[in-house]
Amino acid sequence: MGSVMSNATCPSCEFEGAQDDFYYKTGEQYMSCPRCGYFEGHTILSDEDGNFKRYKSGAKKGEFKWKHEITKGGISFRYRPKGAVASSCGGIPKRKLNDFLEWVQNNRNTFEEVFITYKENNKWLTKDVLSGNVEDFSYNGMW
Ligand SMILES: [Zn+2]
Repeated sequence: MGSVMSNATCPSCEFEGAQDDFYYKTGEQYMSCPRCGYFEGHTILSDEDGNFKRYKSGAKKGEFKWKHEITKGGISFRYRPKGAVASSCGGIPKRKLNDFLEWVQNNRNTFEEVFITYKENNKWLTKDVLSGNVEDFSYNGMW
């Protein structure tokens, strides 16, 4: 399915390198921020077979049922399991950070790399969780 990716300003942390992904055939749209982990999605609900679901009642014929979801930004994470090509990434609320770190610690040997990005003293920092190194947040266009 075709989509157009463009840069956007994150509504949560105002980072200008947030990614806006617009699927022009369906009108679905996703925005995600690599810095604070903010995510917003406008998606059409699908059934188990991947077919678009339609409104049951009260909607015009052929109108799709939409889902609008927002994950508030705070701390973003990115990790890659050993042997995996792609990283998983997303946002975690501050209160869930300890759970996340504990989970990483308990599965330490299964990760190739784990990073979290967070704001401290008005500066965005990225921490390499496995080594403990902390650096200024930088973004090269890749997750
Ligand atoms: Zn952000």
